[in-house]
Amino acid sequence: MSFSADVKSELLSVEAEDECCLHAFCYGLLLCSRSFSLREISALTEHSNIANKYSEILKKVCGVTPLISKSDAGKYRVEIKDAEDRAKIMNSFGYDIKSRTMRINYANISDECCKSAFLRGVFISCGTVNDPNKRYHLEFVLPYKNLIKDLALFISEFDEFETGLDPKIIQRNSNYVMYFKGSESIEDILTVMGAVNSSLQVMGVKMYKDMRNNVNRKLNFENANLDKTISAASKQIDAIRKIKNTIGISRLPVELREIAKMRFDNPDMSLRELSESLEVPISRSGVNHRLQKICDIADGIK
Ligand SMILES: [Zn+2]
Repeated sequence: MSFSADVKSELLSVEAEDECCLHAFCYGLLLCSRSFSLREISALTEHSNIANKYSEILKKVCGVTPLISKSDAGKYRVEIKDAEDRAKIMNSFGYDIKSRTMRINYANISDECCKSAFLRGVFISCGTVNDPNKRYHLEFVLPYKNLIKDLALFISEFDEFETGLDPKIIQRNSNYVMYFKGSESIEDILTVMGAVNSSLQVMGVKMYKDMRNNVNRKLNFENANLDKTISAASKQIDAIRKIKNTIGISRLPVELREIAKMRFDNPDMSLRELSESLEVPISRSGVNHRLQKICDIADGIK
């Protein structure tokens, strides 16, 4: 199952609502489904659990039983065939023959407690969210410009979003898309709708990604340092080899001989390790200074 389907399953399992919230949930579900008008009330979904919920909620809230059918493409269609039933449903959400445009009727979500339930219904009908492992993206897609604008306003004025959400709207073919980027906005929306587990999952992915980035940054830094050490060491070893093959190590000043042998035998030792393995340990910069001297001597040999 996709992450989006997981989120919807979790949202469908949210229960224990007051009657007002159940009404608001049903409203969100209907308003943003395939069709919500006197001429047609229907939902189209590839998930049987969504089709069943749509049907169950309509029975509970409006006392109307829809018809569920399965298309050849494997999608579930939930429909209210009877015109009187449709009028009854439209009526119970405050729409009459004159209400033509698709707008939010705020009378259905006037109580604070109902807002989450409404948004949950809206998301189940027209929302999707990407797998956070791939990208942070949550969107609502509707063919009605005014309705998507209403939703954007509703969401940006939602009290629960303390940081304030910043919905973006674009047109995609004949649809309008309101979308959110950023793990925090997505976590907030999922939590408010009641998909707490999914929200925690997004949070977990974000933490893992942050940690991996930190480790990589640290590794890159250490690798860069290691590269520097190795290239310095190989230059020193070349110098020592040149001295061996020409004047001989024994011609070096006594304080340079030990470090020259040590370096020649241990190309991968850091300055600190070298300084610690000398018979009389000296500072790191002392070791560096002596190795530099050895290189200077080698440079001076014709
Ligand atoms: Zn309520």
